[in-house]
Amino acid sequence: MDVCILSGFPGSISSTWQQAGRAGRNGQEALIVLMASEDPLDLFLVRNSAYFFGQSCEKAIVAPDKVQFLVDHILCASRELPLTREDSQYWPETQYYNVVKYLHGQGSLELVSDNPKKYSNKGVIEKFGLRGDSDQYSVVTPRQKIVERYEFKDLLTDAYPGSILNIMGSSYIVKEIKFDSKEILLSDLPPNLNGSYTLPVVKSGISNLREESQHKAAKIPTFSGELTVNNSLEEYIMVKPGGKKTQFTLTQKIDPYRLTTIGMWLDFPEDIYGVLHAIEHLIRVVLPWMVMCERGDLGSLIEGNRIYVYDNHTGGIGLVESALPMVNELLQRCYEVVISCRCENGCPSCIHIPQCSTRNEKLDKRGALTLLAGILGHKAEAVNAGPPVAFKTRTELKLAARHIEKQWNDK
Ligand SMILES: [Zn+2]
Ligand SMILES: [Zn+2]
Repeated sequence: MDVCILSGFPGSISSTWQQAGRAGRNGQEALIVLMASEDPLDLFLVRNSAYFFGQSCEKAIVAPDKVQFLVDHILCASRELPLTREDSQYWPETQYYNVVKYLHGQGSLELVSDNPKKYSNKGVIEKFGLRGDSDQYSVVTPRQKIVERYEFKDLLTDAYPGSILNIMGSSYIVKEIKFDSKEILLSDLPPNLNGSYTLPVVKSGISNLREESQHKAAKIPTFSGELTVNNSLEEYIMVKPGGKKTQFTLTQKIDPYRLTTIGMWLDFPEDIYGVLHAIEHLIRVVLPWMVMCERGDLGSLIEGNRIYVYDNHTGGIGLVESALPMVNELLQRCYEVVISCRCENGCPSCIHIPQCSTRNEKLDKRGALTLLAGILGHKAEAVNAGPPVAFKTRTELKLAARHIEKQWNDK
């Protein structure tokens, strides 16, 4: 293969090299083209390609010796064969014995032979889903065909009663959810709704906050620990072609979705929603890149002057924890993404993200820039660096680009 075209930044420098490496094997020359999408991170890299080429690959975050992650791995292993002393060679030894002792003590493993000691699984493993703990719902078409599966949490965002779903080229509306049989029943989309789409109005809050540690980065008190995210859905919006919006109440009640996980929370010196909302989006853009994960692996939420960022997986998977020593760098990179964009009020290249539950409304780009510059100790003039106007001449454009480039090099 001679050419590799990447459609969008794959999300990390290491996966970019890995995908690029499919062309030009054995020392042969190859052409690699990265087509940037509208994603803020893609555009940041296109504007600052020297940054990409100057970086080494990200640190892969693995914590094989953490009991929190070992418990389910060792439990799965015990499902294959009883655990014996020899198995300790596959894991950090002390942790292996600690985990076996712990699992035996709380009843997930049973001692099936005393000499030599063998531990077997007590059936707990059957509760482990391949894709996490959540209940799986089958999506059933009017022709009784199962076309898709959703987790319970997806009912609140994608498959609630009244929502319009596009599956394999056909449009449907969710008629009813059968909670007993775990089925999502679809009807064909009525012709008067052709071209319409639905948006959920998800309300989120945090409870059971258990602070475990405190940090201070760039004058921002940062905390980490366990927390529960509560998401509930009672209303949704139907958007007709042409943009007319109508709000509806759900015809069927869905229980709130509760996620207990590990997170961090940053207390900012002001509680202006638009400013924090923009910073929240920047964190969602930058952090997955720093800890090597998909954007959906992390969640975030604003309450007052506080931004919560959490692992979007039950019990946590070590992402946010690994980011704690890098909060300063995180805020610095947020600042770099937002200052390198020339738009005036925010755009998909800086603070607009498709994952926003409030559809990128109420975002204050200037405010975010000023606040980030303030807490990072950057000069005030840098804040006003990007003239927010469309350039009239090529010279104007080139001179402005030169100016920006110089600022980058001076840092
Ligand atoms: Zn922008
Ligand atoms: Zn948002």
